[in-house]
Amino acid sequence: MALKITPASVDYSRWYTDVVLAAELADYSPVKGCMVIRPYGYAIWENIKEALDKRFKATGHKNAYFPLFIPESYIKKEAEHVEGFSPQLAVVTHGGGKRLEEPLIVRPTSETIINAMYAKWIQSYRDLPLLINQWCNVVRWEMRTRLFLRTTEFLWQEGHTAHANAEEAVEEAERILDIYSDVAENEAAIPVIRGQKSESERFAGAVMSYTIEAMMGNRWALQSGTSHFLGQNFAKAFGTQFLTRDNQLEYVWQTSWGVSTRMVGAVVMVHGDDQGLRLPPRLAPIQAVIVPIWKNDEDHARVMAVVESITGELEQAVRIHLDSRPEVSPGFKFNDWEMRGVPLRIELGPKDAQKDQAVLVRRDLPRGQNKSVVPLEKLLPEVQNLLDAIQSNLYDQALRFREENTREVGTYDELREAVGKGFAVAYWCGSADCEAKIKADTKATIRCIPLEQDGEPGRCVYCDNEASEKAVFARAF
Ligand SMILES: [Zn+2]
Repeated sequence: MALKITPASVDYSRWYTDVVLAAELADYSPVKGCMVIRPYGYAIWENIKEALDKRFKATGHKNAYFPLFIPESYIKKEAEHVEGFSPQLAVVTHGGGKRLEEPLIVRPTSETIINAMYAKWIQSYRDLPLLINQWCNVVRWEMRTRLFLRTTEFLWQEGHTAHANAEEAVEEAERILDIYSDVAENEAAIPVIRGQKSESERFAGAVMSYTIEAMMGNRWALQSGTSHFLGQNFAKAFGTQFLTRDNQLEYVWQTSWGVSTRMVGAVVMVHGDDQGLRLPPRLAPIQAVIVPIWKNDEDHARVMAVVESITGELEQAVRIHLDSRPEVSPGFKFNDWEMRGVPLRIELGPKDAQKDQAVLVRRDLPRGQNKSVVPLEKLLPEVQNLLDAIQSNLYDQALRFREENTREVGTYDELREAVGKGFAVAYWCGSADCEAKIKADTKATIRCIPLEQDGEPGRCVYCDNEASEKAVFARAF
């Protein structure tokens, strides 16, 4: 709590870590590269999880659970997949005191083991589509880690679906991208760019990867969710076949898609400021905190009587916390809850109790512009109105920030300059060579080829060859 937060302008990376630690979202673990998610951080993840889960279920998906361990031979069945994941695999060679006949891989993702099961479960077109999601942990060995953004073990959901034809599978991948954008924008208040990955940034084993990309507070990008069209790659590797209506044996068409605890890191980086976190009300574990103010015992009794009755009323509709700690001052509490990003503070002192009013203080606006006084009889509707206003204001602030820091560029010099300051949008011819050279030169990667394009052809920003689409270039976490 006494942890001082380094200003973001001084050292963004330190600022981020300071906020995560001070707000008690997560802590370092005894195992290098892993993290402990503390209750406050986990509660944010639970809210993200709930928002996603209800949308998955509403679109026909069911949850299941597959094992943590995958036989090594499974991972090796799909050539690109094994090549992509090999450097990051954790391998179990011993169990029960004996060397295992076949080493087991701790899942980095579950396409392989799920396909082994799908090959068994899917026989005919009547078994399709098969729409399954699992909430679990995965392990990808990382050399350089950062709390929530890149850790060796992380939590996520992974959806795996099988379809009778390519069109349905692509539709599914797009439907999930819509769900991811909806949750990012409407729950996390994070504006995202929806697009496709270039071939070099694609998921290992996919035909096509969709992504949502967001701009963080340091103007870098964060990939915040991906949805892949896998074609028949895994189906062929695992023999996942079905009988069509015409009694033909065909391989299924598949998708996989995931959002992880990275999203918590995105919330910190998109909305946080030098005071600490700023949480969007829909994801905030505590939406409003009540801070009673008193000087003597007589005040205390009077104030607490009012405060307890409003707490009872508000908690029916709002996630409320009453901070009645006697050992710390109101000023200390104000700072503490601001640092933890609680969207709204309700202050109530002896005079307020006398006048049947409370003071409301918003976290999303600067000091001096963020206070209002409200009669107690209107408290609940006013709190709800303000929470809605804070939710949309945080989104608007983030969108404005992204727009102010995104440049359409025509020349390579402009691109180099622009990616040092934010996102650059430029024509790209589609060549992996141009992409690699730009990356080597500027450290910026193609974050995505946005789905929304104006349709006008142009010239590649690097090689000047014909280009039909624009791409977003940026530094990324
Ligand atoms: Zn080019």
